[in-house]
Amino acid sequence: MADKMKAMIEQAEQDLLHTYNRYQVVLESGQGMYLQDVNGKKYLDFMCGIGVFALGYGNKAFNDALKAQIDKILHTSNYFYNTPAIEAAHKLKAVSGMDRVFFTNSGAEAVEGALKAAVKYAWLKDKGQDHEIIAMENSFHGRTYGALSVTGTSHYREPFGQMPCGARFARVNDFDSVLSAVNDKTCAIIIECVQGEGGVMPAQEEFLKKVRALCDERDILLIFDEVQCGMGRTGDMFAWQTYGIKPDIMTCAKALGCGVPVGAFLMTEKVGQNSLKAGDHGTTYGGNPFACAAVSKVLDLYEELRITEHVRSTAPYLTQKLEDFKARYDCIKERRGRGLMQGLVFDRPVSGVIARAMEKGLIFINAGPNIIRFLPALIVTKKEIDEMAAILDEAIREEIGL
Ligand SMILES: *Cc1c(COP(=O)(O)O)cnc(C)c1O
Repeated sequence: MADKMKAMIEQAEQDLLHTYNRYQVVLESGQGMYLQDVNGKKYLDFMCGIGVFALGYGNKAFNDALKAQIDKILHTSNYFYNTPAIEAAHKLKAVSGMDRVFFTNSGAEAVEGALKAAVKYAWLKDKGQDHEIIAMENSFHGRTYGALSVTGTSHYREPFGQMPCGARFARVNDFDSVLSAVNDKTCAIIIECVQGEGGVMPAQEEFLKKVRALCDERDILLIFDEVQCGMGRTGDMFAWQTYGIKPDIMTCAKALGCGVPVGAFLMTEKVGQNSLKAGDHGTTYGGNPFACAAVSKVLDLYEELRITEHVRSTAPYLTQKLEDFKARYDCIKERRGRGLMQGLVFDRPVSGVIARAMEKGLIFINAGPNIIRFLPALIVTKKEIDEMAAILDEAIREEIGL
């Protein structure tokens, strides 16, 4: 049996472009918080497809809604309106308080659209061709050229030549670094309210407030990338809502479709009226009936299952467990994060601990070499947090030789 999985992986490595160093596991199915591989081994999942499966695997109401949409129509193109997109856009506006929605197929595409909207907004004011965007060091906004150009990890950008968006990098929670990057060409500032890939680093309320005020003063657009920290993960539908610091443009993806590939960028009416117009932006698949049926049902289920309330009531338990780890182990330097988006910062690479956890049937993802990231499905309960903590404890002990 074990050889079946090994053979499948060997096949995959001959056919797929090797752009990922994958875990040596072929997944087959999932139920709730658990995954199963092709050998029938079960795993407790604390990464949920990188923050995608907010509702857990195999939610019946969700799956039924998708199946029903398949039997109606999968695709129409954006030359027509379609019912799921109309419903999904309306619901997304309601939970975000934004005014205009554009559906994309991924997070990176949502960022692309957000950047294009911001540059067009500035261009309409001064017809300049050299607008700049301020992004944060250690940020992650995706792998397409525009998104990459504002991604604050230089080795992701280095091999790919000239970047299309003039980006300057500042440091999150260091307002002076933002101030010194601003000039007359600055058209937007893009921030993750909690940096995900870059190390689970929350932006402080004070910092965001000052950036918001600076943007207002200079008519610079504030873009919040909520692809990872949005959709209830921090205990509010969007991470910025906790502080009431509203962006001009925001992006959303990952949990938005709970497994169906879909993203969105949203904007205020002011930006909507003064940026992208008919002919400026488009996508064949974006906002298609299948993807939007997913979004629409996800938003219904968030309400029915009171997901944000559940996150707010469960997150303190996870936080406490992780604080206990920090107190118990010298090799753990810090716990940080918000809600059900948490990180444990080690004084050494965490790949060994993650591998041992995997062996014991627990899935984690890192955020940089030294940080274990905790991104459970938002339906997680104390029971699974306890189960996770017990396995993690064993994995750490074995790894550090206790
Ligand atoms: C994952 C991520 C993206 C990119 O989304 P894709 O769907 O992988 O293109 C963009 N921004 C943030 C904050 C992310 O976490």
